[in-house]
Amino acid sequence: MTHIIIIGGGIAGLATAHYLQKYAQENKVNLTYTLVEKDPKFGGKIVTSASDGFIIEGGPDSFISQKPWAYRLAVELGLKERLIGTNDDRRKTYVVHKGKLRPLPDGVMLIVPTRFMPFALSPLISPLGKLRMGMDLFIPPKKDDADESLSDFITRRLGREALDKIAEPLMAGIYVADPMRLSLKSTFPRFIAMEKKYGSLIKGMLSQMKARAQSAQNGNAAPKLPLFMTLRGGLMELVNAIVDNLTGELISSVRVNELSRTADGRYTVELSNGKVRRADKVVIATPAYIAADLLESHSAALATELRQIRYLSTATVSLAFNRAEIEHPLDGFGFVVPKSEDCKLMACTWVSTKFSGRAPDDQVLLRVFVGGYKREELVDLSDDELVALVRGELRRLMGITAEPTRAEIYHWRKSNAQYDVGHIERVDRIEQLAAEALPGMHFTGSAFKGVGIPDCIRQGEETAKAILSVK
Ligand SMILES: Cc1cc2nc3c(=O)[nH]c(=O)nc-3n(C[C@H](O)[C@H](O)[C@H](O)COP(=O)(O)OP(=O)(O)OC[C@H]3O[C@@H](n4cnc5c(N)ncnc54)[C@H](O)[C@@H]3O)c2cc1C
Repeated sequence: MTHIIIIGGGIAGLATAHYLQKYAQENKVNLTYTLVEKDPKFGGKIVTSASDGFIIEGGPDSFISQKPWAYRLAVELGLKERLIGTNDDRRKTYVVHKGKLRPLPDGVMLIVPTRFMPFALSPLISPLGKLRMGMDLFIPPKKDDADESLSDFITRRLGREALDKIAEPLMAGIYVADPMRLSLKSTFPRFIAMEKKYGSLIKGMLSQMKARAQSAQNGNAAPKLPLFMTLRGGLMELVNAIVDNLTGELISSVRVNELSRTADGRYTVELSNGKVRRADKVVIATPAYIAADLLESHSAALATELRQIRYLSTATVSLAFNRAEIEHPLDGFGFVVPKSEDCKLMACTWVSTKFSGRAPDDQVLLRVFVGGYKREELVDLSDDELVALVRGELRRLMGITAEPTRAEIYHWRKSNAQYDVGHIERVDRIEQLAAEALPGMHFTGSAFKGVGIPDCIRQGEETAKAILSVK
């Protein structure tokens, strides 16, 4: 009987276990597995707290449905009726501009303007900046295939103002990342394909929208899902459903301390409770720097590559207020903050507008992101200091002076993997070095081939298939 050890019970480790179990059963493979998680709870970055009518996410709050793996897994686990989308009729994003909240013009898809009038009338971008963005229609595509930073790409195609006022704050909000270092190949391969095919991002976006509208008209389109989805009880519902369905050995509150290779090519894993487990194959689903520590004595070169994957820290500060005490209309999903603004926040989600059922009717819930590449040191402030800082900025930007009725703070130290330029090549080298030095060792999760929940689930499934040699 083959035995697999999965180290790390975040969404990637859990998805690996789920699909190992599923495909082993389907293919009648005799296999057992042990999943080891150092924390008392499974889910890693996914943390939902639910009490007094509030559902507060400490980490991720939703997943993107265009990448189908999270939606598919939720449906597979019987959670279809529990899925909810964002309230897209109220979708609007604000950008802080000279200390004020300005709406991102309607029709800006990701970073690319697709509707002329709202864009032309928007006060966010100067007339010269708009003209420069329009130049995208004429600028020839890049000739070579070398990776470049998102910042270089956006500046090349849409100009500096589009970078500073739209792309940089949105990217800080999504990837918690500095666009000057963010690899385009690893994060937006779609833009590269568009530039190649259409010679222009605007033409590419418009043509994709036209194709979608056409296929909807012909009745060929799949039912349209909201772009971002979650579960009524928060993302922990997905974690709990995966865990409840697992029949293998699940160990929590126990850390993997050591990993050794035995003479017969198998692995021994030493646990913090003093126990030892043996395995034929090992899946490491921890942050890359933990994997580096575990593998240092086996391959210094591999550990060095793993440590090169940088991580950034953030904090999320959720504040609730009596609705009656908030004058701001909260008419959107929240705001993002460009680096150039003298503001200590990264982004703020107006949670009770973005999702239904996150707060009692007489309350509003806001969630603020602090830290990231702009002001990482702020993550080390105490909870009280963070609340004071956030309240000061919300007073200035949104006129909120009310006392919060509830505050929940999460410090996420070294939690956001950064896909710097050259990331794909680094991951290739890691896989190559592991295949040479440690056969049967697999890596999966947000450090490697996609940070979002759907990509972590996809990687878990691919890892399971690779272990079982199924397609
Ligand atoms: C604040 C925040 C907001 C986010 N928002 C979104 C969002 O809205 N949508 C989205 O799709 N993504 C979002 N992300 C990204 C996404 O949540 C993560 O990339 C993803 O959950 C990571 O999953 P993972 O399994 O790869 O890693 P993790 O969740 O980090 O899991 C790794 C696990 O390994 C365990 N571990 C570590 N060392 C050991 C050891 N020695 N022995 C045993 N176990 C160990 C850890 O305790 C942890 O549980 C967000 C991330 C953060 C931090």
